[in-house]
Amino acid sequence: MEQDNNLKNNNFLYKIRLFKDCQDYNLSLWECPSFIFLVLGILNIVAMVSTYFIANRYTEQPEIVALIVIAISTFIFLLSHSITQGFDKLAQANKMKTEFVSIASHQLRTPLSAIRWTLNLINDGRISSPADMSTYLNLVKESNERMIRLVNDLLDVSRVEMGRMTFFPKQTNIYVLVEKIINASAPFAKANNVSLSMEAPETLPNVLTDPEKISITIQNLVDNAIKYTQEKSEIKVSLEADSKFVKISVKDKGVGIPQSQQKHIFKKFFRSDNIMKNQTIGTGLGLFIARSIVEGNKGKIWFESKEGEGTTFFFTLPIYK
Ligand code: ADP
Repeated sequence: MEQDNNLKNNNFLYKIRLFKDCQDYNLSLWECPSFIFLVLGILNIVAMVSTYFIANRYTEQPEIVALIVIAISTFIFLLSHSITQGFDKLAQANKMKTEFVSIASHQLRTPLSAIRWTLNLINDGRISSPADMSTYLNLVKESNERMIRLVNDLLDVSRVEMGRMTFFPKQTNIYVLVEKIINASAPFAKANNVSLSMEAPETLPNVLTDPEKISITIQNLVDNAIKYTQEKSEIKVSLEADSKFVKISVKDKGVGIPQSQQKHIFKKFFRSDNIMKNQTIGTGLGLFIARSIVEGNKGKIWFESKEGEGTTFFFTLPIYK
């Protein structure tokens, strides 16, 4: 008897666990195949029993029975549709997992190899001068930072996917924020031989935004503009305001985005063909995260681009009232 009860409890827990899996995959109850199958089963039994009784009662009016059967079939059809959607979402989650493993392993392999290679050189005593040592240690530091960036991006993507990215909006001076990012990016721009400038009206209203999160977006757009620009070019970051929003734009005269691929640009892991030939560093996660952040701060993000001529990314943030 006790064993039976245990089994029942386990079965019950097992079912709850099934729903929990759906929760983990971010599926609503009505997209959760195990829940819908359960509802379908109960519905089928109720339908069969009630059709039997109703058919007995209304033997003179078969159209009533037919209507009931049609209504039940429609409901079952709708539920089946939900099941398909649930499976679609599960398949997407699975695909994301595969992409995650592939991107993480590819992008981690290069910096990890660089670190191993440098440490081997140091270990074998093959680096004699302090200057060389400093160069190699900088290489290790850079590789390490690259890995930290990748892991942070992946964590942000996972937060977005799970709906767990939280925002703490407050009154923010967007001019100061942009200026800080531009100053910090100046060495990277200089190393790539591009100039970075800022343009804004004398007075600009404050915005309501989460400054830390929106900095990630601005940094990503500026980094991309630098990365995907040929040498000796210029990048301009502009700020302007209307009655409701401040618009920030980042304009480059770089490689541009091919027309045919523009619709995919905010999808996670997407990288356009034209940059894949030369730029191996990158994950295709930055713009996906940038869009989630802007939309989470009640703004919009979009771009204009022409292959070979350049790209401008725009986004808006609501004015603080
Ligand atoms: P990543 O830069 O790591 O590849 P992003 O999500 O930031 O990832 O960008 C996705 C893709 O969008 C890039 O790989 C590139 O193909 C394209 N892209 C983004 N910004 C620019 C830009 N300023 N100029 C040209 N292409 C860009």
